[in-house]
Amino acid sequence: MRVSYSDGYYVPLPDDHPFPMGKFPALHRLLLQEGLIDAQDVMPPRQADWADLRRAHTSAYLDRLARGTLSDHAERRMGLPWYAERRMGLPWSKRLVYRSRLAVQGTINAAFMALTDGIAANLAGGTHHAFPDHGEGFCVLNDVAVAVRVLQSACWARRILIVDLDVHQGNANAAFFADDDSVFTFSMHGAKNYPFEKPPSSLDVPLDDETGDQTYLNTLKAYLPDTLDAVHPDLVFYLGGIDVASDDRFGRTDLTREGLHARDRYVLEQIRVRNLPVVLLLSGGYAETPTATADLHAIMHREAAGVFGTATRSVAS
Ligand SMILES: [Zn+2]
Repeated sequence: MRVSYSDGYYVPLPDDHPFPMGKFPALHRLLLQEGLIDAQDVMPPRQADWADLRRAHTSAYLDRLARGTLSDHAERRMGLPWYAERRMGLPWSKRLVYRSRLAVQGTINAAFMALTDGIAANLAGGTHHAFPDHGEGFCVLNDVAVAVRVLQSACWARRILIVDLDVHQGNANAAFFADDDSVFTFSMHGAKNYPFEKPPSSLDVPLDDETGDQTYLNTLKAYLPDTLDAVHPDLVFYLGGIDVASDDRFGRTDLTREGLHARDRYVLEQIRVRNLPVVLLLSGGYAETPTATADLHAIMHREAAGVFGTATRSVAS
């Protein structure tokens, strides 16, 4: 399986910052170590063009990002806006903008690779809290929104399905595509988690606090197959956030490691059996350490190896 990844995905943050930036290089190392990808499967993206970013984001926001003229409020909101401390924001830097543009292009490239190969991944992305005119919740630019517009303008895909199983509702994706019948947004998330204002997705499935494996899987099985059949998309973006795990620092649901395996296996089997191309994206995950977080993000890749036979390019072909 080909994956988008660049060493530039990592940007140093202050030691006590809550975002586990080290998870990106850690996941890349782990997938190579486990033989889930080969070095030649890794396709480093360049930075997304400003013109492509303007397909989804406002020029005013992009100008402020490019020039470093975001307000204090905007930087705070890009992190965890409900914390009073400024350090919980996402401080602007040239490298942060560079990183964000790389990750967007990584998702665009992974989408084209998935349409060619059946499955591909970006070892980042799924930044579903980035709105047209501002960033939120550790999301600066909305990779999926930009990728959808690029694909549609190139006539590579018309109907898109976003399956968002991050514990946080995909508020910005819901807002981006609210009036767009070509994009179906499915979000299953903690009802009481951030975002506290949830613009309606095409289908929202809220979960109670402490939802465990069995209830979670039963709920997913009640909605996902029908959604895949009804939407019949040209491409699926799978946002497999692992912040649904029981020990996640920001999640309120209680999935075990086995539950995460079962979730990802089920999602991928349902997509595979319908012969739909899929892009795997990380979205959120906040385990105790970046290494532990990467290990949980790797679960979707381990399950993809089983369901799609993606362990190496030679196995896939
Ligand atoms: Zn999340």
